Amino acid sequence: MPSVWIKSPLAILAEKGGGIVVRNGRIAELLTLGQAPFSPVDQVFDASNHVVLPGLINTHHHFYQTLTRAHPQAINKKLFDWLKALYPVWARLTPDAMRIGTRLALTELLMSGVTTTSDHHYVYTPGLEDAMDIQVEEARHLGMRMTVTRGSMNLSEKDGGLPPDSVVQDEDEILADCERVIGKYHERGEGAIIQVALAPCSPFSVTKSLMCACGALAEKHDCRLHTHLAETQDEDAYCRSAFGMGPVDYLEDVGWLNARTWLAHGIHFSERDVARLGQHGVGVCHCPTSNMVLASGQCRTRELEAAGAPVGLGVDGSASNDASNLMEGVRHALMINRLTYDASVSHLDALRWATKGSARCLGRDDIGEIAVGKQADLAMFTLDELRFSGAGDPIAALVLCGAHRADRVMIAGDWRVVNGMPVGIDIAELRAQHGAAALAFL
Ligand code: ZN
Repeated sequence: MPSVWIKSPLAILAEKGGGIVVRNGRIAELLTLGQAPFSPVDQVFDASNHVVLPGLINTHHHFYQTLTRAHPQAINKKLFDWLKALYPVWARLTPDAMRIGTRLALTELLMSGVTTTSDHHYVYTPGLEDAMDIQVEEARHLGMRMTVTRGSMNLSEKDGGLPPDSVVQDEDEILADCERVIGKYHERGEGAIIQVALAPCSPFSVTKSLMCACGALAEKHDCRLHTHLAETQDEDAYCRSAFGMGPVDYLEDVGWLNARTWLAHGIHFSERDVARLGQHGVGVCHCPTSNMVLASGQCRTRELEAAGAPVGLGVDGSASNDASNLMEGVRHALMINRLTYDASVSHLDALRWATKGSARCLGRDDIGEIAVGKQADLAMFTLDELRFSGAGDPIAALVLCGAHRADRVMIAGDWRVVNGMPVGIDIAELRAQHGAAALAFL
């Protein structure tokens, strides 16, 4: 792989402002202004028109939901009613639709500057046994890092859960596939491209027994755990009525209150809950756009970080966002947190959640920062659009003026977006294929 000198950026989110030298997929040098690389490089990229960020990291999504955006039966509802409207629609998911939905979500994320993503897939209708394999193939095709999460649901309406029978599996089948997927795909250590996490869906769609079993399996294989928790007051009420305790007590009860776990949403926490999550290093993926769309509430990011809990950022599924653009998520995070707190929440806080904070949620310290020795994952934006004209601070401008499309994206030292276009993807064809596939869900 050729070494690259990213020379003289317009601005860069790093300790030194003069540029980056990339060798063997890693950041080999950070340069001060006017400084040249220590030894010769193969290529020089003039970044004088680019604002350079660490590649963004998305820690919560449901790729298949790109097929049911702005769905007429689901819009303008809160979470439980929204889910009940969509479960029967999602029961029609096929492997081909899953593949094109995944490809579209990954491409959209990549074009917004995402270099690592997670996806929480929990719909396993007949024929979708290979859902994780489809996701890995598609991520590899785009050259993106991905934590696939083997999601699951095994508690249907007849047993006191929320989803219908048509979308749940039994525990043995789920656990066998978790083992299969970990064995086949889970990479450990620095520079991993594909990792696997286990992700029973939510307190109201899986049994306690499955939560406990997944916790034990994750410990056995040293992988991470993910689930939805404390997203809505309805969920809180469900936990108290079904388990006789709140969501964080439930988490502890099933053996998940530890640093292996990162939660999606994490909104409705008491002071005591926040302190316990921080003490045990449980990560929280803040999903500002989805929380506003579904009127779920406001995540207590500041208290969680102060308590010691990693806070990352996620776009959440495309049916509740409805876009898959993490730069937009950064902007929404800034805005909703200013309402929760005050104007001292800055664009740098929002960018930190989308990079270093998200990396911590995924249990990684090799990505999420532009620093010597880290993986060469970069998102580079120009300020050529009208929306940026007149902007003073280039990094603040990305967030405040609404950057939504990276001009260049590098992953592990490889250019995966060039001149705003993803390498190896025909956007027009993808749009046409995905649009056609989505018609089956209307
Ligand atoms: Zn979700």
